[in-house]
Amino acid sequence: MNIFQLIDSLIIYGQKHNLINKLDYDFYVNEYLNLFGLSNFVKVDKHLDVDLDIILANAIEYAIDNKIIDNTNESKDLFDTKIMGILTPLPSKVINKFNKLKKSNAILATNYLYKLSKDVNYIRTSRIKKDVKYIYNSKFGKINISINLSKPEKDPNDIKKLLNIKNYDYPKCQLCKENENYYGHIGYPARQTLRCVPITLNKENFYIQYSPYSYFNEHLICFHKEHFNMHISENTFKELIDFVSQFPHYFIGSNADLPIVGGSILNHYHFQGGKACLPMENAQKVFIKEIDNIKVYRLLWPLAVIRLIGQNKNKIIKVATTILQKWQQYKNVDLNIINYNENGLHNTITPIVRKKGRLYEFDLVLRNNISNYDYPLGYFHPNEKYWHIKKENIGLIEVMGLAILPARLHKELELVKKYLLNEKLSVDDLNLIDKHLPWIYQLQNKHKITIKNVDKIIKDGVGEVFVNVLKDCNVFKKSKQNEFDDFLMSI
Ligand SMILES: [Zn+2]
Repeated sequence: MNIFQLIDSLIIYGQKHNLINKLDYDFYVNEYLNLFGLSNFVKVDKHLDVDLDIILANAIEYAIDNKIIDNTNESKDLFDTKIMGILTPLPSKVINKFNKLKKSNAILATNYLYKLSKDVNYIRTSRIKKDVKYIYNSKFGKINISINLSKPEKDPNDIKKLLNIKNYDYPKCQLCKENENYYGHIGYPARQTLRCVPITLNKENFYIQYSPYSYFNEHLICFHKEHFNMHISENTFKELIDFVSQFPHYFIGSNADLPIVGGSILNHYHFQGGKACLPMENAQKVFIKEIDNIKVYRLLWPLAVIRLIGQNKNKIIKVATTILQKWQQYKNVDLNIINYNENGLHNTITPIVRKKGRLYEFDLVLRNNISNYDYPLGYFHPNEKYWHIKKENIGLIEVMGLAILPARLHKELELVKKYLLNEKLSVDDLNLIDKHLPWIYQLQNKHKITIKNVDKIIKDGVGEVFVNVLKDCNVFKKSKQNEFDDFLMSI
């Protein structure tokens, strides 16, 4: 594909996906000539309908060959985002269309924004398809396992460049509204294709956008207009309830507001949700009591989860707030639940809200982030013996039974498979799976491994580790007297 055909294909793609208007053809030709450093255009004989991945791969090749960009992963991502940014409609246009659709039906509005985010390649669908995903049947029900391969690996040349980058403190973080149309640089993603739509939750100003990593269907991020720290309070509950009232086809939740038990971004108040039924939603529940027409259940789940179900918004918020306050005050030294010390508060909650017909369903996951000399990364955190699979924090999404496992496992588990089948491995490969050896021996002791069953044994083995990791984060993991029920009865 020559450069003129390539430019034409980009414009045809934009027209086909309603990103740009046919009347603007020459305008976009000149935009792209500028981007590719050209001063003339040769009209193409035939408009070609080419797959976007192929167009972008050709564009990147052209840019590298003509020394417009360096041949590194980050340079390529910055450049193809710049290409797609040209086709992306202005924020005002997107907001107007979203609001117009929302007036008739919120589903049409989110469908529009989600499709747009994919069409402009903000959500890199083809990259996300590479993620490894499967289901593990546990005694708690189905658990979703995914190995995330869509975040590109860091390129050593990019890391070198990063040393010379000045930190501008703009945008303040990757969630801030100022990211919209930001050009990015090595070490910071380009966001010309990001579009955010303002919404109001409990009289507070938020924006919604879709997650570029799409861990599940229509994975949405809802962030506050201002940059301030995460905090879980009565207002959080009001905002979450307001969200599902406006977008009843989505669940919404917040990461906890403390390090270790929270997500990767603690400094910008935000929620995550989407059109997905994650495993915890289907967990079995035990009825505990009813408070003011709100039913209180305990979930049969690896973590300590309370489910509230009721019709009245205000009443459910009131019960949830009482639980939050009681939990913040709860202390049990025998179970290592230290709610407060010289470092501040350690008890918090990961809340998740859904709307089911006229009923609100409110899940409150009890969390504690205490750490000590023996458990520097946290006592209610994945145990060291599972770090070969999962060392990172267990946040909102994983709490709900969707494992986001690191990309390195993709290669390592292939090598584990070879090892289990007694295939020859190089010294480097053996070094790479050294950390998995105790686990490998366990698998060998438990199973008679054959070429037919090896894949399932590894997959189930990973699933089992993930469930154990969730159990490690259960604040009542050591409970013998059923202190969880005692806590529930005290509400
Ligand atoms: Zn921010």
